[in-house]
Amino acid sequence: MQGLTPARVIHLTPNVWTEPFWAATAEHRLVLPRCTACSAYRFPPTPFCWRCRAQDVDWIEHDGHGTIYSFTVVRHAVIPDMADALPIVAAVVELPDTDGCRVIANVVDCDPSDVHIGAAVALDWYDVRPDETVPVFRLV
Ligand SMILES: [Zn+2]
Repeated sequence: MQGLTPARVIHLTPNVWTEPFWAATAEHRLVLPRCTACSAYRFPPTPFCWRCRAQDVDWIEHDGHGTIYSFTVVRHAVIPDMADALPIVAAVVELPDTDGCRVIANVVDCDPSDVHIGAAVALDWYDVRPDETVPVFRLV
């Protein structure tokens, strides 16, 4: 894959609120927390529902088809270890039917000039190391 952040600079730090998300990504599944009290999605995972302040969630699987809400093309290595990987397209991808949940991830294997707001994307997976996987997207 082209356009990947080097594994050596990715350090996942799951906590009690995000661990189910990362456990699912390790199985190549995208899950989003949905409030058990009012059914509002809340992503990124948070301790309290933005709508009703409840804490309990169900983890709902999503197919990862979405559209680019915003993006930037990283062409300068602020982190020196990134230099060989550039350019990288970092995007905010909006997922339909989720109350506007947005996932930040790289768009891989593309010409950055083909990326635009509103472009349709599909989910793929980047296995950073055993049991650590992050979502990435591809233009469709
Ligand atoms: Zn709620």
